[in-house]
Amino acid sequence: MARKTVLKLSGVDRYYGQGDTVLSILKGADFELRAGEIVALVAPSGTGKSTLLHLAGLLEHPDAGEIFINGESCGNLPDERRTAIRRGDIGFVYQFHHLLPEFSALENIMMPQLIGGLSKKEAQERAAQLLDYMRIGHRGTHRPSELSGGEQQRVAIARAVANAPLLLLADEPTGNLDPETASYVFDALEALVRQSGLAALIATHNHDLASRMDRRVTIEGGRIVEF
Ligand code: ADP
Ligand code: MG
Repeated sequence: MARKTVLKLSGVDRYYGQGDTVLSILKGADFELRAGEIVALVAPSGTGKSTLLHLAGLLEHPDAGEIFINGESCGNLPDERRTAIRRGDIGFVYQFHHLLPEFSALENIMMPQLIGGLSKKEAQERAAQLLDYMRIGHRGTHRPSELSGGEQQRVAIARAVANAPLLLLADEPTGNLDPETASYVFDALEALVRQSGLAALIATHNHDLASRMDRRVTIEGGRIVEF
């Protein structure tokens, strides 16, 4: 059965002007990501992985082409609607956890749900469930500074999916971890993706992890190509 296309880039250009020179990052980039798929984005530093993730996450606008989230063309939407899609349908994970330091792991995961309108009780239940799922149920009351790097990233992943998004975008989520911890964190992420059916695009330099994903793409001459 063909699964639903969650993210689609069609003929996307992105360039940065720098004085007289223009730095072209994406040129005619096409890409499709379907529900339930985990795709690795592997490319050298400076080639545009973060740019691509920011475009897909509606944090930046393409200079040409179209970005569709769940079939909806997002280019000309009002900012309000783009923000609503970003909050409701898209989860982000970065290389550094960006958790709020003065809140517990549980509270960090509750935050997006409370912003999304869930009751405190509902948010708390789901946050606890997600922590269990990430195998850190016993760490809920700890603040980020009291957690290991791998635990912090697992909380960040749980937070990213707290609102049950359709799309998970991760920018080198294990880039700051040792290989063993990276593998363990990826296990948890993979289980979560498989169980929830969300679509994930994960930038990584880790070829072991990339080989465990469903497909691998890179950026070449401004295009997104499978390898
Ligand atoms: P990656 O994540 O693969 O390391 P990036 O997407 O961060 O690559 O950056 C791609 C290229 O675009 C780099 O050469 C970077 O310097 C440049 N770049 C990124 N953002 C900007 C910006 N806001 N203004 C100018 N150049 C930028
Ligand atoms: Mg980057």
